[in-house]
Amino acid sequence: MRGVFSEKTHRALLRPRSTAHRQERRRWGRFRPDLRAQLALQVGIGVASVVVFFLILRGYVVQEEVDRASRERLAVGQVLAGYVDAQLGDTLQQLARTAARVQTSSQAGTPALLEDLRFRLDQTAYGVFLLDAGGRPLGADPPELGQLGAELARRPEVAPELAAGRAVVSGVHSGPGGRAQFGMAVPTRLPWLPDAAGQPTAGTLGILVDPTNPRFGELVQASISLGVGTSAEVVDQFGTVVTSTERERTLLPGQFQALYANRIASHLSGWEVAVPTDGPNTGERFLVAFAPLQRAPWGLALAGPEAQVLAPIRRLDPPLVALVLASLAILVGLATLTARSVVDPVRELILAARRIARGDLETEVPRRGAGELHALSRALDEMRLGLREAERARAEVDRLKDEFVSSVSHELRTPLGYIKGYTTTLLRRDAEWDEEQVREFLRIIDESSDQLESLVDHLLDMSRISEGRLSVEPEPVALAPIARDVARNANVRTSAHRIKVQVPPDMPLVMADRGRIGQVLGNLVDNAIKYSPEGGPITISAAVTAEHAHVAVRDEGLGIPEDQLESVFDRFHRGSSALVRSTRGTGLGLPICRAIVEAHGGRIWAERPADGPGSVVHFTLPLAPAEAQPGADDAEDAAE
Ligand code: ADP
Repeated sequence: MRGVFSEKTHRALLRPRSTAHRQERRRWGRFRPDLRAQLALQVGIGVASVVVFFLILRGYVVQEEVDRASRERLAVGQVLAGYVDAQLGDTLQQLARTAARVQTSSQAGTPALLEDLRFRLDQTAYGVFLLDAGGRPLGADPPELGQLGAELARRPEVAPELAAGRAVVSGVHSGPGGRAQFGMAVPTRLPWLPDAAGQPTAGTLGILVDPTNPRFGELVQASISLGVGTSAEVVDQFGTVVTSTERERTLLPGQFQALYANRIASHLSGWEVAVPTDGPNTGERFLVAFAPLQRAPWGLALAGPEAQVLAPIRRLDPPLVALVLASLAILVGLATLTARSVVDPVRELILAARRIARGDLETEVPRRGAGELHALSRALDEMRLGLREAERARAEVDRLKDEFVSSVSHELRTPLGYIKGYTTTLLRRDAEWDEEQVREFLRIIDESSDQLESLVDHLLDMSRISEGRLSVEPEPVALAPIARDVARNANVRTSAHRIKVQVPPDMPLVMADRGRIGQVLGNLVDNAIKYSPEGGPITISAAVTAEHAHVAVRDEGLGIPEDQLESVFDRFHRGSSALVRSTRGTGLGLPICRAIVEAHGGRIWAERPADGPGSVVHFTLPLAPAEAQPGADDAEDAAE
């Protein structure tokens, strides 16, 4: 098996796997995971990607839902704030109108104006009052509220506004009996209380309102019936709850006081996610939408836990997780199947390749897998068959060489034996030979020398052919004389055969090396004699076709078996029959003939004649150019 691979490759292939593997790793300088590990890694990456994809998708959906709910909450908040504003605006207008009437009435008409105002405001206000420039009550309805009105006008968020001559809405605070109240006040003039210069002094007309009254309270309740959020509250400029859907919260700081204060101060509407830091809902995330009011420095907030908004999405989580798990299971299943359908056949192929490397060329490579893997196993098996073929051919060449060496030795020894034997015989002093006997011995010695010479010529020619040094020198020559010479020489050697030459008289000249073509014809006639042990006719014939001269040597001997018609031209090939084996020969004659004919640009082949026994060897030669052809008188025909 060594012959198929070089020694180095052979050693590398047979090296234990671990060493080869280590070397491989050193060469690449990093870890190279096997196929199964690579597949597992890829599946892992795939699984992670799916999970990340779902998480990102969910995050996106959650954000969208939070934004949608917040937008909706803000829109409702703004509508509600509009209602509250309308209420406050309405009340402030009533106040302003009454303030204008106060400016034109007398002191005696004032109680009636206050009573009228209280009547108009009905449920909204529970008290109406009038103060002088010093903030002292001038009148009130009910009368006991005068003092409360004076206190209201002194409140820090109220006094500066009144001093600047502007209408004002106070913050919410605790009133009589601890109930919540806030005030609204507008400046007025009191003509019946002139100052030193006789001008009317400033006065303040105000009302006190219970924010938990139905007209106010119902408004915030409406937000809940609209289904947005879980709580709604109106907060004042201090972040204190004016009124709320949870009534008990009124007067307490709003749930997200800092957020409210900030938004009220900057008069901003918008939404935020806020997390209470104390109270029962500490740590819970709330979505808060906030709309500031126009008529008062207040705002309206709609809030609800984020979890409530996300509940429909959360409900989708279990089926979603199940879906992800199912797709992961399918992914892993498919990957396992792929691993099995790829890795197992690849392993078998590795084993097969190792078997081939070890020199086992008989075991078939299993056809496994599909697609490229199947093609790979087929290619590997074709490689095995190719190697097996090459190995067989090499063995055949070895066998032929051995056979050649033994037949060459035999070919050398036989004539040498004759030469030695007859020379020794002739040199013996104790024997007397008559002239006839001496001539016969010398003829045998001469023939044996010829045989030796021809064998050495064959060997030299063959080595020239192997080295590509066989040279021919073609010139225009006539075939007939060459054929006649060959026949004459052969006739000398045999008495059992009749050698005939049939060349047409007008045969044109051919382009040939006279000596070499004589050698070819000589070889062919020699074979014809050797392989026609019973004797019989041998014919050298020639004919002309349009392109070339056609020469054939025919005998009626053993014939060449059908399956050897090609191989007889291979080097060292000798027929396998006992008769051939018993004949002298080296298997070099026909290959030399082929090399010579091909060097002339011709072709040589053997046939079994259709009409009789024996064999024919044909060859072609190129014709000499027209200008080199002599007149018709040169042509001749001879038969011997
Ligand atoms: P050799 O004659 O030295 O064996 P060749 O190359 O001349 O070598 O011939 C090769 C083989 O071809 C022979 O061994 C023989 O079997 C076969 N062969 C050649 N010429 C003939 C022929 N005229 N008739 C029968 N067999 C032949």
